[in-house]
Amino acid sequence: MSEDKLVAVKVADIGNQLPNHVSPSQLSSFDRCSLAYWFSSVAGWREPAGLPQIIGTLVHDVLENFLKIKSENRTKEVAWNLLRDTGETVINNNKSWLKEEDLVTLKDKSAESLKGYFDLEDPTKLVVEIEDIERPVSAIFESVKLYGRLDRMTRDDVVRITDYKTSKKPPAQYLTDSLRQVMLYAAGLKESGLNVGEVELIYLPGRDRVRRPTYKSALDRAVQHLVTTRRKMDSSLTKQTWMANPGTACKSCAFVKACPAKTAKAPIPGTPESEELLQSLNLEKRVRTKSNVENSGMEMLPFGDENT
Ligand code: SF4
Repeated sequence: MSEDKLVAVKVADIGNQLPNHVSPSQLSSFDRCSLAYWFSSVAGWREPAGLPQIIGTLVHDVLENFLKIKSENRTKEVAWNLLRDTGETVINNNKSWLKEEDLVTLKDKSAESLKGYFDLEDPTKLVVEIEDIERPVSAIFESVKLYGRLDRMTRDDVVRITDYKTSKKPPAQYLTDSLRQVMLYAAGLKESGLNVGEVELIYLPGRDRVRRPTYKSALDRAVQHLVTTRRKMDSSLTKQTWMANPGTACKSCAFVKACPAKTAKAPIPGTPESEELLQSLNLEKRVRTKSNVENSGMEMLPFGDENT
C-alpha cells in the first residue's frame, strides 16, 4: 500500500476478533485495503465472487481433479470433459447474475487457461502425490498462525511448490506479492522439516513460468511480512481504526457504498445504519454458530477465508 493516500477510518466496536490464523490470501487482501479486509474478514460480509475469481476457481478445480487421476489417463479429452462438467455446475450456481457475454468470457478464458496448461507441461509425465495437491500448510511464527493450501507440490529432482494463475503474467515489479505467498508456504513446510527447493508461478493463458530458488532471505522476508502484517491487524483491531486505500482496488470492491473513504455520506462501518446499507445491497453476512464451527473441523472464529 502506498502510505500517502491511505485514509484512517474509525469503525464501531462490533465485538469481533481477528481470524485465528492468517493465510497468504488474507495477507494480500489486507495489503490491498485493510478496511475492505475488516468488512470481509472481521465483520464477516461476504464479497460476491466476480468473473475473474469464478474462472480462477473453475480452472483450479479442474486441474486439481485432473492431476488426481493416474498419470497415464491424463489425456486432453479427460481434461476437457472435466472442464465441461465442472463449468456447467459453476454456470448453474451463478446463473442468476451471469450475462450472455459473461458466459462467453468464462468459456473462452477457462479454455485458454487449460490449453495453456497443456502447452506448458505434459501431465502424463508429471509425478505428483495426491496429498501434495491442495496440500494444507500450517505453522506458527512468533505466535502468529499461518494456515493455507498450496496448489500443488512435486518432488522429483527438486521439491517444488507450484501456484497456478489464470491471469497474464504481470511486469516483474508486480510479481512480489505472488512470489511471497509461495515463499511463505515454503517457510511453513520448512518448520515441519520439509525443505522446498524451488517455488513456481504458472501463468496459464500466457504460457509463462516464473521459478525462484527458496533462498533463506526470501523465506525470512515472507515470514517477517506475515508477522508484521498480523501485528498491524492486531493494532487496527485495538484502535478500531482501519486504513482505507482508495484506488484501483475500489473498482471491484463490494463495499464502496458503505466505505467512508469513497462515499462521503457512508455511515460509520459497524453501526446498525452501515449494516442495513450492506444488507440493502444484497450482501450476505456469514454467521458462525457453535455447531458449524465444530462441524468445519477448524477453529476459525470469527472468519477465516473459506478457500484456505
Ligand atoms: S471502496 Fe476502496 S477504499 Fe473503500 S473499502 Fe473498498 S477497496 Fe477499500
